[in-house]
Amino acid sequence: VIERQSAARAEVLALAHDKAETTDGVRIEVAANIATASDAAEAVKLGAESVGLLRTELLFLERETAPSQAEQRAAYQAVIDGLEGKSAIIRTLDVGADKSLPYIPMPEEENPALGLRGIRLCIARQALLVEQLRAILAVQPLSAVKIMLPMVVDASEIVATRVVLDRLTAEMGIAGRVELGVMIETPSAAILADQLAQEADFFSVGTNDLTQYALCMDRTNPALAARVDGLHPAVLRLLAQAAQGAASHGKWLGVCGAMASDPVAVPLLIGLGVTELSVSPAVIPEI
Ligand code: PEP
Ligand code: MG
Repeated sequence: VIERQSAARAEVLALAHDKAETTDGVRIEVAANIATASDAAEAVKLGAESVGLLRTELLFLERETAPSQAEQRAAYQAVIDGLEGKSAIIRTLDVGADKSLPYIPMPEEENPALGLRGIRLCIARQALLVEQLRAILAVQPLSAVKIMLPMVVDASEIVATRVVLDRLTAEMGIAGRVELGVMIETPSAAILADQLAQEADFFSVGTNDLTQYALCMDRTNPALAARVDGLHPAVLRLLAQAAQGAASHGKWLGVCGAMASDPVAVPLLIGLGVTELSVSPAVIPEI
């Protein structure tokens, strides 16, 4: 078994830097989910075409004060520098509720998973969002950067963020417009994808949360682990709806949840219209 597995690994490693394409000629971008600059280097080594999800939470967690704008900028810059010209989708801070920050005191919440989290928190505590967007906008070259919002429910959240982003872009004297995309990880976002597609530049499905919220099953509850399944027909219908919504306005749809790493799920995702798969660096060659 070990011999067979290492032969299979060697085979996929040899092809890892080739462009992925279906037999009928559809190009699929294979990207990486990362959190640090060293992940970036690893991802490039293993054949990532880009970073489809840079989780920024790590910078904010387990500390007494928020990271300064300069510290954030340096961290994002180090990631871009490690990508050898490839681009990165930087996700704005996805904390709140269960992932609480001592420097953002929040009232106790009865249902943290349904609470003030993700983009909701960033809109409510806008100073946090402003600092992060300024840090992102200071990265060079800015053409290598896209921004993505977590836990979006409807178009008002993109519109509100776009207003802030446009103001900061003008204040910083930046010409051009950074692409702003949204994660599809609430049933609402999947159902309203056609409306979101009028405002967002691209979509990436967070199947971990989409599955949890569609099935009403906590993704961290071990008793439900076998049933929190992205291949559930309810989740697949939401994915199909998201894909149709994206296509109705010519926007692309990726997947950055764990489902994109599942070889059984990948053909289904591609069949539904997904054109980018963002996965942990180690599985890039296989996918
Ligand atoms: C997801 O929900 O699928 C996702 C990619 O985001 P996270 O796992 O960081 O919540
Ligand atoms: Mg998520």
